[in-house]
Amino acid sequence: MLRVNDVHKTYEESPLLEGVSFIINPDETVCLLGPSGSGKSTLLRIITGLEQAESGTVLWDEEDLRSIPAYKRNFGLMFQDYALFPHRTVAQNVAFGLRMQKLPTAEVQARTNQALETIDMLNLSQRRVTDLSGGEQQRVALARALAPNPRLLMLDEPLGALDRALREQLSRELRRILHSTHIPAIYVTHDQDEAFAIADRLLILHNGHIIQSGTPEEIYNHPNSLWVARFFGLGNLLEGSVTSHNPLTIQTPLGPFQVACQSDPPPLGKKLTLLLRPSDARICTPEQNLPNTISGVVQDAVFQGESYRLRISCHAGVELFLNVAHNIAVSSQLNLHFPPKTILCLA
Ligand code: ADP
Ligand code: MG
Repeated sequence: MLRVNDVHKTYEESPLLEGVSFIINPDETVCLLGPSGSGKSTLLRIITGLEQAESGTVLWDEEDLRSIPAYKRNFGLMFQDYALFPHRTVAQNVAFGLRMQKLPTAEVQARTNQALETIDMLNLSQRRVTDLSGGEQQRVALARALAPNPRLLMLDEPLGALDRALREQLSRELRRILHSTHIPAIYVTHDQDEAFAIADRLLILHNGHIIQSGTPEEIYNHPNSLWVARFFGLGNLLEGSVTSHNPLTIQTPLGPFQVACQSDPPPLGKKLTLLLRPSDARICTPEQNLPNTISGVVQDAVFQGESYRLRISCHAGVELFLNVAHNIAVSSQLNLHFPPKTILCLA
């Protein structure tokens, strides 16, 4: 089990990591997610041993790794631009790390074949890597990282250079491979779709801290801050302030909203932001007299495969997005209801 404990790192007097702590459990695939420049790659380099933290510790099974050099940590790495040797075959590339370890030839061959089987490329073992597609090259890079049987695998934006369709396909495949090998993994990305597809658990790095950790479902359903909701693009954000406790009511530019009672209601007058998810709105009529009703006009409708995304202009210059199963004509007037229990309050 990996334990990262209170790691601090500063570059040129500007702090980058300001007390990062987390653990990676056996078998677990964890996605480290954060905007570009938040320190994800730096954190991986510190875990690998290629970079020193100013303070804090990295432990494996409670052993402090400080005095263990990178090449002895038995951690596998795969980067977006992890260059393969162009003039060598698939098998020669995969065998590279094993030869460096000076393993007997028979064992190098057996482990190479096993790694190629894991990525389903045994039949291409004699092909030159330059004669492979981009997706196949990334799979070879993965096999090369897996072949020495590392105790932890770290992948730094491994699919970043590929197009969207290929990224989706490969991320599903990576998830299958990581689970079948039972090697715990830290997978760095700034792409939330990729993270949702791959991760057992997400760690969100922002402002030098892990600001939230949880399964994809937990983070999607309960983002713990406005920043997380924005980062994941979880829906419409509407500012307001608390005007009543029973029921909990938030006054906004679109009128009052009732939200489901929370165990610890925010004080009267407290400013906060409501998250109204595009799929949670119900189309209603004014006669139904429901709370949390908004009227607006459809400005445009974008076909998204399984639904249409409507842009609605409401009063006070507020625009909301809505997902609906059937298209609704532009310029239609709509009344929308957001059930109280679907609305989240974010500080
Ligand atoms: P991420 O991988 O999340 O995009 P990085 O860890 O690569 O972020 O880098 C975060 C910031 O740290 C960068 O914006 C850069 O300014 C700074 N940084 C990274 N490495 C160095 C270095 N070796 N020297 C100085 N500054 C660095
Ligand atoms: Mg990076």
